[in-house]
Amino acid sequence: MALAGTDLATGLRALVGDAAVLDDADSRERYGRDETERGGGPDAPFFPPQVVVLPERVDQVAAVLRFASAQRIPVTPRGAGTGLSGGALPVYGGIALGLERLGRIRSIDARNLVVEAEAGVITADLQRAVEAQGLFYPPDPASRDSCQLGGNLAEDSAGPRSCKYGTTRAWVLGLEAVLASGEVIHTGGKNRKDVAGYNLTQLLVGSEGTLAVITAATLRLTSLPAATLTMILPFPALAAAARAVETICAEHDPAACEILEAAAIDAVGRLMPLPPMLRASAALLLIELHGEHRDRLLERAELLAAAAAAAGAGEAMVAYDAAEERRLWAIRRRVGEAVKYLSTYKEADAVVPRAALADLVLAARAAADRHGLQAICYGHAGDGNLHINLLRGDLDAAAWHARRDAAEGELFEAVAALAGKITGEHGVGWTQRRYLPLSVDPPTLALMKSVKAAFDPMGILNPGKIFP
Ligand SMILES: Cc1cc2nc3c(=O)[nH]c(=O)nc-3n(C[C@H](O)[C@H](O)[C@H](O)COP(=O)(O)OP(=O)(O)OC[C@H]3O[C@@H](n4cnc5c(N)ncnc54)[C@H](O)[C@@H]3O)c2cc1C
Repeated sequence: MALAGTDLATGLRALVGDAAVLDDADSRERYGRDETERGGGPDAPFFPPQVVVLPERVDQVAAVLRFASAQRIPVTPRGAGTGLSGGALPVYGGIALGLERLGRIRSIDARNLVVEAEAGVITADLQRAVEAQGLFYPPDPASRDSCQLGGNLAEDSAGPRSCKYGTTRAWVLGLEAVLASGEVIHTGGKNRKDVAGYNLTQLLVGSEGTLAVITAATLRLTSLPAATLTMILPFPALAAAARAVETICAEHDPAACEILEAAAIDAVGRLMPLPPMLRASAALLLIELHGEHRDRLLERAELLAAAAAAAGAGEAMVAYDAAEERRLWAIRRRVGEAVKYLSTYKEADAVVPRAALADLVLAARAAADRHGLQAICYGHAGDGNLHINLLRGDLDAAAWHARRDAAEGELFEAVAALAGKITGEHGVGWTQRRYLPLSVDPPTLALMKSVKAAFDPMGILNPGKIFP
């Protein structure tokens, strides 16, 4: 029998101290929301926990989980709450377990090119710390100035640079984590190779806080690229841009290859001035190249622009200095903000095999049109991963929810028909769970459920997530 609010807070205070346990209305309100429906205000998903616990040490995390197991109280791990699939929402109440105070970079080991850091470290802080030593941690979610490593690991987050460097998963060598029982486990380590037993590290990455609470990670590093080059290619037709992505990725090894379709260009154009050539385009590709010498990159950019021109692209805009590079990237990075400025929106995060990218945009537009919604598409073209923003406009809550769900359902059916998946980086979480069977067949789904039961037999860790 689960404890009521005050008893629960009292029990937890005895374990981790008064300062680590919050049960006031403001804290419960704050930890009851995330970024799932951006700009959603009072209609956005809201599930307040009974109590918020903010441990500072791994032994405190373990004590909380031992207690929750004994009392059968749901525990929802939480990073910065920037998630877009409702993963951090305590849908069954109980304990919101915020990892933000586990914020130490334990060591930067330049000899082995690894960093050990706790779950609550902000991603951009980790990047700055290693870059100060000439080292590079590539995963770059657009939320990196606020999201935390634990959230990145739980979601296998990615960003533009995953085109060349892979997602968070590719950079994890080992984890420290706490099981639902309160036991602390250590997977992997600093070794580049490790086949000693099952690869639990990679099982926990992307498990969305349903298998264990990640408290720290050993992450691989590489050298900072000596030179970078950013360019934008305007296209008169979406299909031409999508086809060019195939050639660019096959022949030019871009670090990033991002796409904005016309509606996204238009939205950004309302926030910042854009050259007429870009405004008039049906699609833009933003490319970043990494290498040893700037001159070599300029040569590569010329070849790339020529190949793109053969595919229909207009004149390339190449950034000639760091300020110009930032300006070009702002066109891509400000799309989310630009859409939020237009309307509340729900972001679908579909991924398809790269060659089906144009079909994905067309399917998204068709699904939105059928239900009278505007769709704005942009994202990680090099990974075949698009963010499809469905806009609420001035619809009331009932009409918005009905149309959004219908359009999203049809979109995900189309994604499955293109051999894609319902999510590439934002996770299944709470909002996408009913669609999981479109991406995972029944025997595989049954196996996933038995893995969950093996880790968390009482089902206290982040219940209500991933599974339909
Ligand atoms: C403006 C904006 C831009 C974004 N851009 C990107 C992007 O480019 N790429 C991308 O991939 N995502 C992006 N996101 C989504 C989001 O930022 C990522 O999913 C991020 O990794 C979530 O981290 P967080 O710390 O906020 O986690 P939260 O939102 O707090 O939690 C996310 C999930 O992780 C679990 N979790 C959190 N910490 C732990 C832990 N220590 N142990 C176990 N489970 C844990 C939670 O239970 C939940 O299921 C964006 C979001 C916003 C608002």
